[in-house]
Amino acid sequence: MNYYNDQTLIYLNGEFVKAAKATTDLYGQSLHYGYAVFEGIRAYNTQNGPRIFKADEHYERLKKSCELVHIPYPFIKEELIDATYSILSKNKLKDAYIRPLVYCGPNMSLTRAEQVNIMICAWEWGAYLGDKQIRACVSSFERPNPKSIMVEAKVSGHYVNSIMATSEAKSKGFDEAILLDMKGFVAEAPGANIFIEKDGRLLTPPKGNILPGITRETVFEICRSLEIEVAEQHFTAEDLKSADSAFLCGTAAEIIGIASIDDEIYPLSWHESLGSVIQQHYKNLVIEKDNFGVII
Ligand code: PMP
Repeated sequence: MNYYNDQTLIYLNGEFVKAAKATTDLYGQSLHYGYAVFEGIRAYNTQNGPRIFKADEHYERLKKSCELVHIPYPFIKEELIDATYSILSKNKLKDAYIRPLVYCGPNMSLTRAEQVNIMICAWEWGAYLGDKQIRACVSSFERPNPKSIMVEAKVSGHYVNSIMATSEAKSKGFDEAILLDMKGFVAEAPGANIFIEKDGRLLTPPKGNILPGITRETVFEICRSLEIEVAEQHFTAEDLKSADSAFLCGTAAEIIGIASIDDEIYPLSWHESLGSVIQQHYKNLVIEKDNFGVII
């Protein structure tokens, strides 16, 4: 996949520069230790023009992630949001995935960062896991213990765990992995949160061992507006397999149904499931379908 070409512009420390010409310091602390923080955001081509979905929430999480791992954050949210809209228009992108990254300067010691950089890039990207239901498996990898890492921070180095789990799942012929936490409860997918449906209600793991996703929060909002019962509750791999249906949610994955876990196929067809109702509402929400003419 080509993420950029000779013309692509990125935002780098306050300036718009060509992606192909931008460089980084090979002695940077982020490159060596995974000590960087990032976001994954989407923009949609709505009837009101290209709109970044939940821009405030994503840039607030970027700041919170930096604070949690002591990376300085000398940036102003409104300026970053403006810069992101400029990146979209300069690159003529309407539907796009946006990747802000805060990374540290040269420092080979294991001390907190002093010098930081920010880059924002964007590219056209379809649904991360496709738009069909996926086949998932329970991973042999666990999510990192929250006593070892700042689980609520979106830190680059944490994603080695995600890469291990995804590659294991794919090497076994599955589309995606589901990871348990260190107590054996279902936690999340490598880059998405999980909901299961059981007896007409939804369950999702509580905060503590997961990245509390912005899409997960949007699912709660949709459930409130549709009066769908949803609870944050621990459940096991056995509960996951004996559910009626299940889905993943995340900015990149959006809402995607799970057809099976290991070899257990869910009894509810996707179109009968609550996940499918939520998927439809999510699609309408991001393109502001019910909000035509409202400029936010
Ligand atoms: N969990 C993990 C580990 C993730 O990487 C992501 C993607 N950011 C999510 C959950 C979903 O978060 P969001 O809905 O904010 O994209």
